[in-house]
Amino acid sequence: MAPSEGKKLNGATTTTTPTPSPPTQPPKKSPNDFIFGKVIGEGSFSTVYLAKDIHTGKEYAIKVCEKHHIIRERKTVHVKREKDVLNLLTHSSFYAARPGSNFFLKLSSTFQDLERLYFVLTYAKNGELLPYINKVGSFDVECTRFYSGEILVALEHLHRLNIIHRDLKPENILLDENMHILIGDFGSSKILNQGPPSPPSSQTNNTANDTDDDNSSPPPSSNPMQAPRERRRNSFVGTAQYVSPELLSDKTASPASDLWALGCIVYQMISGLPPFRSRSEYIIFQKILKLEYEFPNGFSPLARDLVEKLLVLDPSQRLGAQDLAASPRYDSIRSHPFYKGIDFDTLHKRTPPTIY
Ligand code: ATP
Repeated sequence: MAPSEGKKLNGATTTTTPTPSPPTQPPKKSPNDFIFGKVIGEGSFSTVYLAKDIHTGKEYAIKVCEKHHIIRERKTVHVKREKDVLNLLTHSSFYAARPGSNFFLKLSSTFQDLERLYFVLTYAKNGELLPYINKVGSFDVECTRFYSGEILVALEHLHRLNIIHRDLKPENILLDENMHILIGDFGSSKILNQGPPSPPSSQTNNTANDTDDDNSSPPPSSNPMQAPRERRRNSFVGTAQYVSPELLSDKTASPASDLWALGCIVYQMISGLPPFRSRSEYIIFQKILKLEYEFPNGFSPLARDLVEKLLVLDPSQRLGAQDLAASPRYDSIRSHPFYKGIDFDTLHKRTPPTIY
């Protein structure tokens, strides 16, 4: 900025540099800026409302968290992490132009009053992916290629930002008004140390230990098969059916842990159910650690090959696990024959296949 002419108090003319005015921030929003409509969902410590911005008429999903509930449930870290990750995904100019950036909920604003925190989010008009899988029983190969392809591109973006989701599952994959995916629920996610993601190995600092939560539930035992049941139940990050074996055995996660979840989701899209199932979480964990699952008759052979290459116990041997050190894409997954002919970089512009 050019210095401006000014007068000293003693009358001598001099040159002063005005204090630069801070960049103009949009005024902080408040609940009064929105008309709150129906409840569109409830979480364990939040209620999500459909809301309309009274100034623009734009619809949002506003997640409202009661402060005392967050403190009582010891979810402060969880909520802060969700906000941090949403901010990174919404405002990071890093790779912002990449197609994967389209596939996440965005955080439009946050505010609070005495009792509550408010997160103003993109409204995912078509809800969660899970009911679509459940309704049709299973996706055909075309739908599976499309939706798992979008998830893959989203993971490329997330992992290049050094974020691991750690709770990827069809309930956390929402759908916008055009039936494209919007991944949400970052409360379990982890922001890794800076630097490009390195492939998992026995000695990498780009893995995340899951003992940094404030829920003070004990970390998983080094042998979860021998841990007492109660202790085990609360002791991992994520959801039993999709949790990776390394999270159960070593308490660590890397981007490859999300690739494990992707393998579970591809399996579920084709067969209708996740691969590791039981009414007991304990049995699910045992099955995961023993890689005990089966393919139903008629499972697409190419999809089966893909799932078998993703559901590998050693995270460093999972398909794609070594890719991001050298390239911004999961090239070895993209080039798997199951995805032959798919143009991953234009999926967000395509009309999604009809689910039936
Ligand atoms: P928990 O906090 O227990 O892990 P959760 O992640 O499902 O549960 P919320 O994020 O509060 O909790 O979401 C509650 C419900 O609201 C979910 O069913 C979700 O599908 C729905 N929901 C959340 N965000 C949006 C959104 N942006 N658009 C549409 N629906 C949403």
